[in-house]
Formats: sequence, structure tokens, C-alpha cells
Amino acid sequence: MSMPALMPVYPRCGVRPVRGEGVYLYGEDGTRYLDFAAGIAVNALGHGHPGLTKAIADQAATLMHVSNLYGSPQGEHLAQRLVDATFADTVFFTNSGAEAVECAIKTARRYHFANGNPQRHKLITFRNAFHGRTLGAISATDQPKMRDGFEPLLPGFAYTAFNDLDAALALIDDETAGFLVEPIQGEGGLATATPEFLQGLRKACDAHGLMLVLDEVQAGYGRTGKFFAHEHYGITPDIMAVAKGIGGGFPLGACLATAEAAKGMVFGTHGSTYGGNPLAMAAGEAVLDVLLEDGFLDHVAAMGERLRSRLEQMIPNHDHLFTEVRGKGLMLGLKLKTDSRRFVGFLRDEHQLLTVSAGENVVRVLPPLVIDESHIEEFTQKLSAAARVYVPAADD
Ligand SMILES: *Cc1c(COP(=O)(O)O)cnc(C)c1O
Repeated sequence: MSMPALMPVYPRCGVRPVRGEGVYLYGEDGTRYLDFAAGIAVNALGHGHPGLTKAIADQAATLMHVSNLYGSPQGEHLAQRLVDATFADTVFFTNSGAEAVECAIKTARRYHFANGNPQRHKLITFRNAFHGRTLGAISATDQPKMRDGFEPLLPGFAYTAFNDLDAALALIDDETAGFLVEPIQGEGGLATATPEFLQGLRKACDAHGLMLVLDEVQAGYGRTGKFFAHEHYGITPDIMAVAKGIGGGFPLGACLATAEAAKGMVFGTHGSTYGGNPLAMAAGEAVLDVLLEDGFLDHVAAMGERLRSRLEQMIPNHDHLFTEVRGKGLMLGLKLKTDSRRFVGFLRDEHQLLTVSAGENVVRVLPPLVIDESHIEEFTQKLSAAARVYVPAADD
């Protein structure tokens, strides 16, 4: 039996990128692609951003890693900036989204433990959710394709329909720790929480002493035109997992919490060898510098509006193929009447457009946040040309 050196868990496509420049990627064979996938909402500043690459290069030459045995001026500085800009009082840095979710789950359980209620360990989560690939994170989703063959999973999760407030409230019992929810489901197909749903979960948490844990790994960090997606809803979480855009391509994540929610996270309760090392902090600082620049989030919101209206204009011309536009800001999804994975492949191979397919036959459109009008024009022209000639497979 032949087994590739690189464990074959990803159905990789034929594009083999070797270089990036702004909103463009270049393959091994020199082909240029318009990158509206952005490494799955990671390359917020595009490729080769001068501020980010210089910050990483300078820090790499100064001090890369020391471990969390020592004081961290770099971590304290970035954490303070995040605290100043959000609901949170405290931050734990991780290397990925799944680890940020793990820290969020542990923080929620530990809150109830610290309050003398260790039986309150159960998080209510939602159908089609995606929280990452660790055993904890796959236990928090009900999707068989991620869970099959990995049982026994972590106990302490209950699942119900996304955007069904009554169903979620009906699951609350003596063991409930809180809710774990994405404001906009990324992998799940860009289902967007209704205000009633998210505000209702917040209200229930306040009434029952529960933790509202948001997974903003994909929707956060400017992606929707606000710093965090929950700002659209006028609520704040108790605990929040963040990653993807936060490092602009450098592996970085964070778990943010209020002082009350984090009260159980004392010395020795959690840790990470790499988490928050000086190199990661330099990347995080450089990304945050751009994000919090005056007018940057307004730029994202404006580009999001423009891209959405362009996509909406296209639907009537291609109504055999497209049904609706979903999402917020530059986290958009185009829902198809046919298999989205095949169409994403067609856009990539025949039109050099990079997008990402998601659940429910949605094409995810996740450009770098630094795009301008010209990229939107190029994208919509090529998408429209592709849609005109695309022939869905008979069995799609
Ligand atoms: C990508 C993602 C994760 C997992 O992040 P990794 O960095 O792959 O571990 C978790 N939650 C959401 C909502 C995501 O989009």
C-alpha cells in the first residue's frame, strides 16, 4: 500500500502556490490567480504586506521564542491592545483556532467549577457548526464527517438547530455551562445568526448564570466590517475564540474573556509552549496596527457592500445557477442551485479565481480585507463570464 509522505487527509487541488503579491497568488507553473479565498479568511492583509513581513523579519532576527517560563513584554502589550479594543479583560494566546476554542471550553467549565458548580459542564452548540479538529472541537459539532471513527468523543455537548432560540433554551438544564456559537457559520455555509437568536442567547445567559461563548475564529477580526461580528448585534460574549485573520498568515489565535468568566483560569490551569511567543506577537501587532487604523474597518464595510451588491446584481442573469447572497462584510457566500465544490473548481481551473466551497452548496467569497474596487470588478467580471459558460453536471 502506498502512502504519500504528506498524510493524505486533504483533497488538495492542482494549484500549487509558490508566491503571493497583494491579492494575487502565483502557482509553481507561473499561473496568476485572483485570491478571493485568502487562505480561508486568514490573509487579511493579502500576501507580502510590507508592514507584516518586516515586523516578522525584524522580530525573527531579534527574538523568536523563549517559552512561557519568562515574562512577556510582547504578550502583555498585544493583550492590552485587545483588551482596550474589546469587551475582554484578559487574553490567552494560542497557535490556532481549535486551540482558542479548547481554551474557551476550558474557561467556561472552569468558571462554574470556581463557583462551586462543577456539574455545569455542558455547552449547547449548533447544527452545522465548525469549531476545529481537536477531539474537543469535533465533540462540539454534530457533523458525522468530522466525528466518524474518532469516538469516544468528549462528553458535555448538546446540539440543536442554529437560529432556533426556543430549541436552544429548551435544552438548558442543571448541567448547562453555556452556549458555544458562531455568529456567522463559516464552514457550515454562511448561515448568519438573526439578532433575535444571538440577543436571546445573551439574555438567557444573563438570566441563568451561563457563559455565552462565541467562536469568532472566522467571522472576527474585521472580516464582517466590524472588529468583531457580535458588534453587529449590540451584545458581548463572556468568552470568545479568535484566530485566522489575527496573525494575517502567521499561526496565531487567542481566547478572550471577561474577568468574571476567566476567574477559574489561575496558575497552572492552562498552557502552551509556543502560545504568544515574541514572533507571533510581532505578527499580531502588525496586523492590529492596520486593522485599527482610522477608516480601515469602514473600508472593509464599504468593499463588502459593493461586492454584495455586485453579486446580487448577477443573480437574475444566472438564475439557473445562483439563488442568494449570504453573510456580512467580506465574509460572503453565494448559494448555488448545484454542487458548489465543482463550481469552485471550475472558477479556479478555467478562470483563475480562488474561492472556497462551504456547506449547503455555498461558494465562500473571502478576499483579503485590503482589496479595492478594481479587484471587485475583476472578480465579478470573471465570475460572470464563468457563470455564462458553466454547465452543471447532470447529477449535481
Ligand atoms: C477555522 C475555524 C476553526 C479552527 O481553526 P484552526 O486554526 O483550523 O484550528 C474554528 N472555528 C471556526 C469558526 C473556524 O472557521
